[in-house]
This record gives sequence, C-alpha cells and structure tokens, in this order.
Amino acid sequence: MDRDLHHQTVQRALELGRGTDPAVLPEIIALLRFPSTEVRRLAASAIAKLAPFGADPVAAIPALVPVALRDAHPQVQQYALKALKCFGHHAAAHLADLDDLTNNPHAKDYVRRAANSAATAIREAVRLQQENARHKCLRCGCETTAEEHARSQQAFQRSFCDSCFDEVYLDRRNFDAKVELSKTITAKAGTLVQSDGERLIADWLAAHHIAYRYDERYRILNGHAIRPDFYLPELDVYIEYWGMDTADYKIGMLKKQQLYQQEGKRLISIHPPDKPHLDTLLRRKLALFGYTIPPA
Ligand SMILES: [Zn+2]
Repeated sequence: MDRDLHHQTVQRALELGRGTDPAVLPEIIALLRFPSTEVRRLAASAIAKLAPFGADPVAAIPALVPVALRDAHPQVQQYALKALKCFGHHAAAHLADLDDLTNNPHAKDYVRRAANSAATAIREAVRLQQENARHKCLRCGCETTAEEHARSQQAFQRSFCDSCFDEVYLDRRNFDAKVELSKTITAKAGTLVQSDGERLIADWLAAHHIAYRYDERYRILNGHAIRPDFYLPELDVYIEYWGMDTADYKIGMLKKQQLYQQEGKRLISIHPPDKPHLDTLLRRKLALFGYTIPPA
C-alpha cells in the first residue's frame, strides 16, 4: 500500500477509535478488511471502544467474528476477540467457535486466552440477561418482580403483578361460581349440567354405563388451565360440548382443541347440530378409539 495512504488510513482509524458516535461503524467495519495489519488492529480496537456507545451488534458482530477466529495476524485476532467480548450476550451465538479457539493448540497462547476471556464474559452476560429478564403484567402492563412472576406463573401460567394477581384470582373464582350457578339442568344420573346438549351427553353415557366426570376443576394441559366438560376416566377420553356461538367462545374453542391435540388427548367434540344423532356420533367416535358400545 502507498505509504501516504497507509499513514492517512492509520490516522483515520485512530481518530474513529477516539470518537463516541456509533454511526461511523460502517466505516470502521470497512477498515477491518484492509490489507494493513495495523489498520485492521486499530479498527478492531475502535469497534471495542464504540460498543458501549451503542454500536450496532447486528452489524459489528458478523464483521468481527471472521477476524477474531481467522485473521492471518494473531494480534489482530486478539483485538477482534476483545471487541467481541464488549458485545456481551449479543455474541452468544459464537460461543462454540470461541471455545474451539480456546482449545486450539495451534493458536497462539495470547489468542487462546483472549478467546477464553471473551467466552467467559459472554456467558456471564447471557446469565445476567436471563436473570434480569423482564416480565410484564398481562393485565396492567407494569413490570412484575421476579417473585410476582414466579408466583403468578405457578398459579395461572401467566405473569401478573401482585394486585392484578388478586383480581384475576377473584375473577377466576367468580367464574367458577357462575358456572356452578348456571348448572340448572339435571341429567338422569343426577348431574347438574349447563345445557340441553350436555344433558343429552350425560344421559347417553349413563345409559351405556360409561363412567364420567362432569365439569371437573381445571386440568393443566401444556401449561394452560382448561376445564373439560366430560372426562371418561375408564376410556381416557374427553368430550366437549361446544354449545355457544360467540366469536370469543369460538376462539377459546379452537385454542382448547389445539391444546388437546398437542397433548395427544383423545377428544370428542359435539356441536349443537349433532344433538339429533348423538347416539350414532358417539358410537362412531368411540369406535375410532377402539371402544365398541353395546346397544343400550
Ligand atoms: Zn398488574
């Protein structure tokens, strides 16, 4: 390279390294590809200095990684490794490569130490990031503390702050109470059900001596609390009667059906138009699960 040009480029790299404006990052990245070892080393050093000022990790890391791992000059590698270290958890995807370099007996000792130091710092940054992961209350949007998150996660599989936790808990309890109150239809077996469709199902099950539990407390399927209409413990089959027709209800229905499917649960869905041929339908669906029901 022309000596004057080289001198100018080195000066420019030094100048960029002294600045605090992350917008010059593309110019520095271009210097990482210069034939001059000195320029590449200064460029890597400049990126490290800009990292705390918000240099974009998405641009910086892919430019640094090949230099850190494979630059022809070990000293340039060392500086690029130091720069990678400054990007903390953003560089987590490259930990395996850094470990390989740490353990590579052909690499210079100081390069291996720099790789090890970068990997250690990046791992620590990842750990801290996970520890401080922020969760927002699903109801009011405020940030939940780690304790609030843990507690509401356990109860509802959701993040709620303490005051919303109580509200949600009460809502849930009122909902349960409302469901109890709406069970006003008595099936033959004495079970109080919520609708005519459910009564038909309960009666059919009783007539065929199939044991069932109706509207049990919540069961947790895949982290979601759901409440099946009917559960047949001897056959390990769930029956849901999808009696309502509102949009909200249908969204809930699809979600619930998906959960059953994901968990490999055996679900029989009954809809209001099925009521007149409930007998045929239940026989056919139970037969799919291997159960032949003798005529009543
Ligand atoms: Zn809240």
